[in-house]
Parts: sequence; C-alpha cells; structure tokens
Amino acid sequence: LCMMEKFEPILTPDELRLRLPDWPYFIVDLQLWDKHTQKEKGKVCLQINQCYGLLRDYFTGSEVAVTWANEEFRKMFHGPLDRITVYDDPTAEFLKENKIDEVVLLDPWADEVLSEKDFDVKAFIIGGIVDTGGEKKLTPKIGEELEKAGIKVRRRKIVLKGDIIGVPDRINRILGIILKMMVEGKSMDEAVYEMQ
Ligand code: SAM
Repeated sequence: LCMMEKFEPILTPDELRLRLPDWPYFIVDLQLWDKHTQKEKGKVCLQINQCYGLLRDYFTGSEVAVTWANEEFRKMFHGPLDRITVYDDPTAEFLKENKIDEVVLLDPWADEVLSEKDFDVKAFIIGGIVDTGGEKKLTPKIGEELEKAGIKVRRRKIVLKGDIIGVPDRINRILGIILKMMVEGKSMDEAVYEMQ
C-alpha cells in the first residue's frame, strides 16, 4: 500500500486483492453511541450499512469493523450483520487482537492533513458520530482513549482546498473519499468533489 502508484479506476476485486494484499480495516468506533438520539442512532446505522456497500464494491465488506457494538446497535442495524465485522468491546482491544499498534484516526480537528504516506496503516478509525452542524469537538476523545490504551494514533483531517468546510462529514462519505484516494489514486480535492 505504501508504494501508491496511480491505479486504473476499474479493477476487478480479484485484481485488487492481488495488488493490495494487506487491506486495512475501516473501523467505525461507536463509543459515543449513547450520546445520540434514536433518530441519530438510526442515521449511524444507515451510514455504516452504506460503508458496507462501498467496501463490498472493492472487497468483501468484512473490512468494515464496528467496535463498541451493543445489543441496540445489532437490533437497529438493517444491514448484513454477518458480513461486516462486529465487535462488542473497545476499539483498542480489537486492535490488540489483530496485532495492530498504530492507526490513522480521521479527525476534522487534527492539525495534519491525510496523505498517501498514511496509507500504510492496518486500520483507519472513523467516529460513529452523527451531529448536524458538526461543531462539537468529539472525535479527539476517541484518539485520547486509544492513546491511553497504548495505541499510536495519527490524527488526520480531510480538507477541500485546504479547509474542512465543504467536506461531507457523513461516515460513509469519509470512507468513500479515502477509497477514492487509496484505490483509485485520486487527489484529495478530486475525491472530495466526487463524494459531495
Ligand atoms: N462534530 C463531530 C466531531 O467532533 O468529530 C463530527 C463527527 S463527523 C459527523 C463523523 C466522523 O467523520 C468523525 O468522527 C470523523 O472520523 C469523520 N470526519 C468527518 N469530517 C472529517 C474531516 N473533515 N476530516 C477527517 N475526518 C472527518
């Protein structure tokens, strides 16, 4: 993954598997689940289902992992629970079980912008957070939690022409932007425009 050449956009899943054998996990961290209203929880579920849809196009879909998943999430999730990776315990535990000690946390409040150099990690973390307006500073808490558990966290933001304004903040759109950059070799601006 670190030797990112520009990929042709259309590759079959088998070709992709050969070229990217160490496909990372895309983890949606649900530790803030209880802070959401029922309606917002529904949106979180829908967006995770859309993440599965995106990854299934490229791979199997099981690369979507949901951590801190509780009974209510399982009940409310209308997608194929058996095709994604659902994990009841904290993200750090999941990472340790998979021998992953360093991650990229997608965080609109980060100082550094996501780049190709970050595509060598084995896990990307996206906050399972829905908040219209997005002004609350919530994602950094996920990073602090991971660091406390001994995980190295690279906090990275996605920007459009240098600014987070104009970047869609839905969980599935963020995943879509990463995939367009990683798999299709698009620039960040192009990827953001295409996911708007
Ligand atoms: N106000 C929330 C916060 O403080 O993070 C916004 C959460 S956003 C709706 C859901 C998730 O999408 C975030 O936790 C983050 O992982 C990801 N995200 C949204 N916009 C992003 C951006 N511009 N750069 C990186 N990640 C972003």
